[in-house]
Amino acid sequence: TQQDIRPPAQASAHVTLATPEPARRPLISYVLPVYNEQDGIAAFHTELTAALDARPDLAAELVYVNDGSSDGSLAILQGLAQKDDRVRVIDFARNFGHQIAITAGLDIATGDAVIVMDTDLQDPPRVSLELVDAWRDGAEIVHARRRSRQDTAFKRTTAHMFYRLLRSWTDVDIPVDTGDFRLLDRRVADELRRYRERSRFVRGIVASMGYRQKEISFDRDERFAGETKYPLRKMARLAIDGVTSFSTTPLKLITRLGFVVLLLSLAGIVYALGMKFFRPDITVSGWTMLMVVVLFLGGTQMLSLGVLGSYIGRIYSEAQRRPLYLVREVIGADEDGRDGRR
Ligand code: UDP
Ligand code: MG
Repeated sequence: TQQDIRPPAQASAHVTLATPEPARRPLISYVLPVYNEQDGIAAFHTELTAALDARPDLAAELVYVNDGSSDGSLAILQGLAQKDDRVRVIDFARNFGHQIAITAGLDIATGDAVIVMDTDLQDPPRVSLELVDAWRDGAEIVHARRRSRQDTAFKRTTAHMFYRLLRSWTDVDIPVDTGDFRLLDRRVADELRRYRERSRFVRGIVASMGYRQKEISFDRDERFAGETKYPLRKMARLAIDGVTSFSTTPLKLITRLGFVVLLLSLAGIVYALGMKFFRPDITVSGWTMLMVVVLFLGGTQMLSLGVLGSYIGRIYSEAQRRPLYLVREVIGADEDGRDGRR
């Protein structure tokens, strides 16, 4: 167990002599969403703790979020919490979804750095320690990027297309092929908690925040046990959340379409009037009026939708209530390091 691997008391006393005030071990919080993972969660915990035990320079806190599992996951988590005092469990009243589970975990995590990872062993625990090293080298957000993944061809292609679409439709530079496996510095985690929008796409929010970001590549393993908890329906919802929470491109498309339709309808109106005056012999009575009215109404309606859309876009971004700006540091902070904002 952890105790056995830590350096013996004498060794640390020795270190204390050498450096009068030894640096406190940084506390790493793990945010671990769990939804019906009864067959894999114990193996995950074992592997994660084994990886952590090899790093006595780090302290850890494991925040499991049981997202309304209907299997035996909760009982297993309770067992883990009893045996290991680093474990905390948030038990949701029902299934609120992966993104909300992550958010709840971030809300109670207290570490100097917070790592979010899946609990099906697709995000390998040893990689989380590479994220920690990148953080200690100065990165404030470390994304774990999938170099390869063992999912089905269907999942791989749809995910691939989704990330490319997102990149072209949004202003945010969302790193391609990253899920929610990443490390956040305390500062970033605190700021992330100020984002309270409901349909949340956490990886997009994080990418949009700025700060010093870094990517680490890893090979994504196969799911250890059980099935994916992201069926097509949930994946589609996540994709829609991703696009709509970072892009008003669909609304802008309406306005553009409105202009095109209006121009075309003006041409149509000119044509209908021309026919009426120059070729009255082949123009059916009533047709001109009908065409003018239909085309004019169609064009103006489409354009008006675009106008409405641009206001709705504004209402939407106001409703999201995102922070106006994010601060890394206020230079010249008072003694407690407070910067006067809170
Ligand atoms: N998960 C969750 N709530 C959900 C769906 C999934 O907490 O409603 C968790 C799940 O237990 C896992 C992580 O989110 O730890 C990722 O889910 P999954 O592995 O099924 O997604 P995939 O890897 O197939 O994209
Ligand atoms: Mg998975």
